Amino acid sequence: MEQSLSAQLDKYADLLVHKGCALQPGQELVLQAPVERADFARKVVRAAYAAGAGHVTVIWADDEVMRMEYQNVPLDYFQHTQPWKKAQLDGLAEAGAAFLFLEGRDPQALLGIDPAKPAAAARARNTECLSFRNGMDFGRNVWCIAGAPVAKWAQQVFPGLPADEAVLKLWDAILKVSRADGADPEAEWDRHNATFESNKRLLNGYAFDHLRYKSSNGTDFTLGMNPGHIWEGGAGHTQEGRAFFPNIPTEEVFTSPDRMRADGIVHSALPLVHAGQVVRDFWLRFEAGAVVEFDAAEGREVLEHILKTDENAMRLGECALISKDTPIRQSGILFYDTLYDENASCHLALGTGFPECLAGGLDMNKDELIAHGLNQSSTHVDFMIGSDDLSVTGVTASGEEVPVFVDGRWAWGK
Ligand code: ZN
Repeated sequence: MEQSLSAQLDKYADLLVHKGCALQPGQELVLQAPVERADFARKVVRAAYAAGAGHVTVIWADDEVMRMEYQNVPLDYFQHTQPWKKAQLDGLAEAGAAFLFLEGRDPQALLGIDPAKPAAAARARNTECLSFRNGMDFGRNVWCIAGAPVAKWAQQVFPGLPADEAVLKLWDAILKVSRADGADPEAEWDRHNATFESNKRLLNGYAFDHLRYKSSNGTDFTLGMNPGHIWEGGAGHTQEGRAFFPNIPTEEVFTSPDRMRADGIVHSALPLVHAGQVVRDFWLRFEAGAVVEFDAAEGREVLEHILKTDENAMRLGECALISKDTPIRQSGILFYDTLYDENASCHLALGTGFPECLAGGLDMNKDELIAHGLNQSSTHVDFMIGSDDLSVTGVTASGEEVPVFVDGRWAWGK
């Protein structure tokens, strides 16, 4: 590792521990990391103990081991979480741990694998490890997703380069788009968060009844907002009010729309990468909140699989606004990873919505959330609709029309 990169990665590790996880003295940190990036994982562990961590648990991930597992183990194994795994995740969550997920994956790791297996594993974890899942969803546990390159990922993003060179180049891109390439990334994130706060204040002040999306690519779409909907973005907050960053990077201001009021057609602006497979040039037509028709130039069956995950997977759980003037969009890089690619443009997500995006939502159970218009599903898949000329108009309950996005950026110039 080059000396200058190593020093910058120390700053990145500090950013993840201090800002991403807001780690408290004595607290447990759970770090999930690719074994191939053990060098950086050790930097994070060092930063965590320097910040006073009580203990750090590392859960190693490896694409090749995972692939062999899916190739050799039958589907029924994945339909339930193993009791020891559930005890680990739920036990750590109940003890108040912070969870840091360091993503670095071969985008093609699951190519040719029966998609039912990873889908079953994710569904089992989300429905059975309830302390773990609800701890993060309901603001009891701090969590942060950030990235670190592995060779196969880097070579997909930068084809034709030798592995070492591609990894260095991807580190460079990750630091840049994560706003962690400067002298003081933590101060940079304080400034970044102030912009989020002002955009959220404006949107929450308008309390729109619905949004109208229009673009020359054919998008013509109306999306209802729930009474009491809340725009979130930037820092998240635990129930005690501690600020942390669930995603590094993040550029989105987002809320959960009314699950029963989406009408019209949306066209994709960027490819959707899901479980290693790519869906390109697709559109979805909605009626009364549900997808009633869809097609894709490539990967239609992947889209169909997502929509059929469960009974609510064809409804929307999120709408997010992101200016085209952000480092990720300007990098022009397709990262083949949602953490980055979802921050490239305005997007929607099929599947589950966020309780924190509804007034009182954190105190509601799943049935109450659904009754208040907030979708609940075992999946959540983002797809990009933010074309360069996208306009979004907010319409208040009294019919006042407010430009929110004009030509792909905030109408009020942030
Ligand atoms: Zn999003």
